[in-house]
Amino acid sequence: MREIIIIGAGLAGLSTAFHLGQNYQIFEKESEVGGLCRSFEINGFSFDYTGHLLHMRDPYTKDLVARLLPDAFASHSRRAYIYSQGTYTEYPFQANTYGLSKEVIKECIAGFVEAYLRFPNGSQSSESLSFEDWIYQTFGAGIAKHFMIPYNQKLWRTPLKEITADWVSWSVPRPTLDEILNGALGIKNRAFGYNPSFLYPKQGGICQLPQSFAKYIQNLHLKKKVVEISLQQRTVCFDDNTVYSYDALVSTMPLPSLLRIIRDLPEEIRKAGKTLRYLSVYDVNLGVKRPGISDKHWIYFPEPQFPFYRVGFPMNYAPNTVPKGCSSIYVEVSHLPEENIPASRLMEDVMAGLIQCGILRDDDEILASNIVDIPCAYVIHDRNRQEALKLIHPYLESQNIYAIGRYGRWEYSSMEQAILSGRDMALRLQRL
Ligand SMILES: Cc1cc2nc3c(=O)[nH]c(=O)nc-3n(C[C@H](O)[C@H](O)[C@H](O)COP(=O)(O)OP(=O)(O)OC[C@H]3O[C@@H](n4cnc5c(N)ncnc54)[C@H](O)[C@@H]3O)c2cc1C
Repeated sequence: MREIIIIGAGLAGLSTAFHLGQNYQIFEKESEVGGLCRSFEINGFSFDYTGHLLHMRDPYTKDLVARLLPDAFASHSRRAYIYSQGTYTEYPFQANTYGLSKEVIKECIAGFVEAYLRFPNGSQSSESLSFEDWIYQTFGAGIAKHFMIPYNQKLWRTPLKEITADWVSWSVPRPTLDEILNGALGIKNRAFGYNPSFLYPKQGGICQLPQSFAKYIQNLHLKKKVVEISLQQRTVCFDDNTVYSYDALVSTMPLPSLLRIIRDLPEEIRKAGKTLRYLSVYDVNLGVKRPGISDKHWIYFPEPQFPFYRVGFPMNYAPNTVPKGCSSIYVEVSHLPEENIPASRLMEDVMAGLIQCGILRDDDEILASNIVDIPCAYVIHDRNRQEALKLIHPYLESQNIYAIGRYGRWEYSSMEQAILSGRDMALRLQRL
């Protein structure tokens, strides 16, 4: 490959460049690298684009991150909870119902047993089920009613019948009957899920991770936004009117945006791109003049009276991200891309919710606050997605365009997977 162009200097783009080592140009529309893994400061408080906690399972990434940033991370045992019925239960809800009312616990166990007898192996293939059916078959009606359905409806803002269950296997923990019973009786279970412990930089926020790659990147061009691509001429045009030619193009920008700027795209592919759906997230950040407002890392909120689905506390995994004697909060509120909640209303609703559940007090002094809109945050895995991707990715690859990373593959995936996606891409290009 002679000319390789990489669009986007988030983790996937940076990892591609890092593993290629040479013969590439990497372009980023923002003034700094990192994409979603950037950090920023307001009045002495440092925030990420909501919580960005590193979970690594692959020995390759563990080794790579340790080489790039020796001794930079601290490991934390997860302190994640659910707030419902006025009380906190440990995450995951399904394996920790102890502490809820007896009626709710009974409903959860009875529903699970019923589902367990019908589907002893968990559920039918998660590939063929809707997310809603997967929830009922895997956890039963009680856990569905008291957490899984209301929480996911709030997060996804899309009928759960329309969402597929092909992404749940790594992200939603599925306990055994024994563990469900332990959890109901308050007997400690093993740690569940993909994130029982996580890493976070001791200093400087999650931006340390992309910045550690950037040190090895040669041909990085910041503040250069790709605005048009020509398949026929194999050229990329930027917002400053410069034009570059490519033999291979690696794109990490959101797939629908990529398809929109390809000038000579076949109608069938354009149509398929228009069916791709996604969710946006408002990231509301608060710096509070009171130490220890919570001892938790993050909390899930399934109930509809709270506008947020999750709230986290950076000072509990990174104490030096707040001034002395202070606390910090990030609040996640999802919205459909076309929905626009005015900032003042959003802030009012968030503050009221935080006071209602006891995290904030009426007299708390807020020293820092802002709202960041993450327009393309979560890919919605629906049936259209599977069909559309079967057309889009092979077509793009036939034109030497490789869409990678969370928003190029158009999937629900993590920072580790973005790094691996870049490595695999580089290896593939080196073999071409
Ligand atoms: C709310 C939220 C919380 C998350 N929390 C976690 C977590 O705790 N742990 C975890 O492992 N993962 C988490 N993730 C996932 C993680 O952020 C992603 O998997 C990862 O950052 C994706 O990296 P990427 O390089 O694929 O995409 P991005 O980071 O989106 O990078 C794409 C880059 O392309 C650039 N770009 C876009 N368009 C253009 C253009 N036209 N021209 C030039 N450049 C362009 C963008 O500016 C961006 O820098 C979270 C994601 C979200 C939304």
